[in-house]
Amino acid sequence: MARINDNYLKLSAGYLFPEIGRRVRSFQQAHPEARIIRLGIGDVVLPLPASICDAMSAAVDELRTEAGFRGYGPEQGYDFLRSAIAEHDFASRGVAVDVDEIFVSDGSKCDSGNVQELFACDARVAIPDPVYPVYLDTNVMAGRSGSAGGDGRYAGIVYLPCTAQSGFLPSPPRERVDLVYLCFPNNPTGAVARRDDLARWVAYAHEYDAVLLFDAAYEAFITESDIPHSIYELDGARDVALEFRSYSKTAGFTGTRCAYMVVPRAVTGVATDGSRVDLHRLWTRRHTTKFNGVSYPVQRAAAASYSPQGQIEVRANIDYYMRNAALIRQSLATLGLEVHGGINAPYVWVRTPEGLGSWEFFDALLTRAHVVGTPGAGFGSCGEGYFRLSAFGRRENVEEALERIRRAFG
Ligand SMILES: *Cc1c(COP(=O)(O)O)cnc(C)c1O
Repeated sequence: MARINDNYLKLSAGYLFPEIGRRVRSFQQAHPEARIIRLGIGDVVLPLPASICDAMSAAVDELRTEAGFRGYGPEQGYDFLRSAIAEHDFASRGVAVDVDEIFVSDGSKCDSGNVQELFACDARVAIPDPVYPVYLDTNVMAGRSGSAGGDGRYAGIVYLPCTAQSGFLPSPPRERVDLVYLCFPNNPTGAVARRDDLARWVAYAHEYDAVLLFDAAYEAFITESDIPHSIYELDGARDVALEFRSYSKTAGFTGTRCAYMVVPRAVTGVATDGSRVDLHRLWTRRHTTKFNGVSYPVQRAAAASYSPQGQIEVRANIDYYMRNAALIRQSLATLGLEVHGGINAPYVWVRTPEGLGSWEFFDALLTRAHVVGTPGAGFGSCGEGYFRLSAFGRRENVEEALERIRRAFG
């Protein structure tokens, strides 16, 4: 008898994006003439930059030849990419990350979902609310929670409410936890943490011997100058934090797949016998056992994003999206809506008007403007009363969506 992992049965049935899909399909069936504009999903729309595609093609041409063919590469990634990462993403900001502390992977979803395997089943986990659902669901699957209550919250998880009063920043809990997930710039709220905000977390981790899991998937969208791009810009973070980075939103790799995780040698956990074990050793074991590397052309493509031409093209795409974000912010603010985010992140977090709930506003926007966004409640109970609009759209669609919203809600 193949008994299953019962923890999977605890996962809430009503997944966010399938429910959105269902409502959009049924609206479209009833109104086949409606041209629906989607500003809901966190996926890029602009094509891959030319210099990145050129590097990918050149790598494919190498593989075509006897001399250039490559089979399995190093599981942790090729040195050309890891060195480029250490130099451009860290040394350039005054942060020392060793090449062998970088683990190239096929995505931050996998990394941020897999990392929990290193920790005990009874580790106490703190997770912001609202949140990118992967952190929570993977801990539920691993058995680190009880069942979900009526409010959708799982027993045993320490939720960190992110509300308007605190600028949507989570505060360190008063109790002891072992693992803390943080994501800045934030999906879904678009909030960013300043140096002082992160310093409180680093201090908490030192005081309680906790590990911070820092998701910086959107760091390239930071436009203000005084905001840390990496947790390692904070003193003491190298002892307590792992960091996730992804080429998905930064360089348009959502379909191409490349990311990496930084595991500094100094970060440790405690074994049952009380001994300290460095997580670098465990992650190396895990990564080399369960992963066989990102394909050579994709790693070449990722490395090309750091070339001078690659940087120009990547920046142009990010600027394009951030211009969308600015348009969304301005236009909704003009309508008298309360808007957050969208300045250092490609997401605008809108307070739903007229006292509507997140899903009520979703339906109103769909039926009155034929625009799809994401109900904040889908990211956690503190997201109720909010709505996420994504800046990942074509300019003409964003402009038309905003014009329709003006007509429907103005
Ligand atoms: C999009 C996103 C990622 C990136 O995931 P990939 O698997 O690298 O595509 C990571 N974290 C957050 C919060 C995201 O929104």
